[in-house]
Amino acid sequence: MMQNTNATSSTVKKKAAITDQQVLIAGGGHVGLSFALLLAHHGIKSTLLEKNSYPTISPQDDRTRSHYLDSRNTALSRRTVQIYQEIGLWDELQSHACRIDAVQISEQGSFGRAQLNKADEQVESFGQVMENAWLGRKLLLAAQQESLISIIDNANVIAVEQQPDGVTLSFSYYGEEEHEQQLQASLLVACDGRDSTVRQLLDIGTTTYDYQQTAIVGVVETDKPHDHVAIERFSPAGPLAVLPLTDPEGDGNEEYQQGYRRSVVWVCPKGEETRYLEDDAHFLATLQGAFGDRAGTFVNAGRRGGYPLTRVLADKQVAGRCVIMGNAAHTLHPVAGQGFNLCMRDAQVLAKMLSAQVLRGEDIGSPALLTRYEKFRQTDQKRVIRFCDAVVHGFTHPNPAIKLARNMALVAFDKLPNIKPLVANYAMGLKS
Ligand SMILES: Cc1cc2nc3c(=O)[nH]c(=O)nc-3n(C[C@H](O)[C@H](O)[C@H](O)COP(=O)(O)OP(=O)(O)OC[C@H]3O[C@@H](n4cnc5c(N)ncnc54)[C@H](O)[C@@H]3O)c2cc1C
Repeated sequence: MMQNTNATSSTVKKKAAITDQQVLIAGGGHVGLSFALLLAHHGIKSTLLEKNSYPTISPQDDRTRSHYLDSRNTALSRRTVQIYQEIGLWDELQSHACRIDAVQISEQGSFGRAQLNKADEQVESFGQVMENAWLGRKLLLAAQQESLISIIDNANVIAVEQQPDGVTLSFSYYGEEEHEQQLQASLLVACDGRDSTVRQLLDIGTTTYDYQQTAIVGVVETDKPHDHVAIERFSPAGPLAVLPLTDPEGDGNEEYQQGYRRSVVWVCPKGEETRYLEDDAHFLATLQGAFGDRAGTFVNAGRRGGYPLTRVLADKQVAGRCVIMGNAAHTLHPVAGQGFNLCMRDAQVLAKMLSAQVLRGEDIGSPALLTRYEKFRQTDQKRVIRFCDAVVHGFTHPNPAIKLARNMALVAFDKLPNIKPLVANYAMGLKS
């Protein structure tokens, strides 16, 4: 079900509650859509509410990317790829994803350098990089075609009320008149992003930390093919990641995979972003300065977006029959490309626990079950949060002694046996 309507009047009409779904999902970004698809894979019916209007997507038109979400690119870990494989979606996603065969880590102006190669670690790849425009389009299309998922867009969640045996969610949506409607279900999962309305409605606090940094994200071209190498570089201004991308017309053909397009995530101090965003020549020259020639010459800068970086951690992720998930639960620094991958592991675990609960014939929104989920996910979440912060703070500290120590650590990491497979497994999301 898709309700697409436009606002023409401010009259509010209230409608009676609908009670035919098991799970309500607030927020239809990548996490909300993926979670709905995971539930459907286990035969669980859900209704997903999204504040924004989704574009109309035709399954036949496979060439038009949708920019309804954002212009970023996401490094999908091997575990995330496995999750999409398990639910039968990977074949659809794969043609727009570019494999990572090697990862290089280095610091500008320092001797330390490390490289992970897929052959040494005996893996097919370290992960895949996909443009969010494609990922969002494919997830939305799959959800629209799934009969167990009902989608209501233009729907702004405004209230949540919990009863002993269910949860009632109120939302407003716009038609010829503004409507307010209620839905009831056994469970509500909030995937409504960093500034989550549901989290606030449930009175769940957050612990936040402003990194005083902005991530500049975009696509560049180099005169040297990327050869499926991801480069993580630390500069005095901040960390920088350059990842391989498929060509715009990529169709899974190996010829396209050997392209020259790369995704850039450049982190700069807050306040310095305007020139990087507006001035192509300045952006390219700065990249070149930070990189030297290891990626070749940067020759073309595409559209870029700026994202202020704040870590936001929900004080708790379960309240009664409600679960907080995705960025609403933990918004992380993007330096290590872990945020979405962590969300996908949360989503997979919760979907499996809910499925087992349904098979036992028990209450899908049981607060005791949800509390078990929250506890179970703590170890992985804490490890990833610590890892991201250690990378951000460890690599930007200007103290010469710390700089020497981290360079020696990089050399040791590159030379010592046993460490690389361990780190590679964590980065690929295969160990949690
Ligand atoms: C620069 C950058 C690069 C990144 N790169 C990577 C990477 O390479 N790998 C990785 O794993 N992660 C990466 N991440 C992290 C990743 O982008 C996030 O973890 C992910 O986008 C979280 O998705 P989400 O669906 O939880 O939140 P969002 O994308 O914020 O979606 C929330 C949705 O909820 C909707 N909504 C909000 N309020 C309401 C309401 N009241 N009612 C209804 N709907 C509502 C919004 O409209 C939106 O569609 C990166 C992040 C940044 C900033």
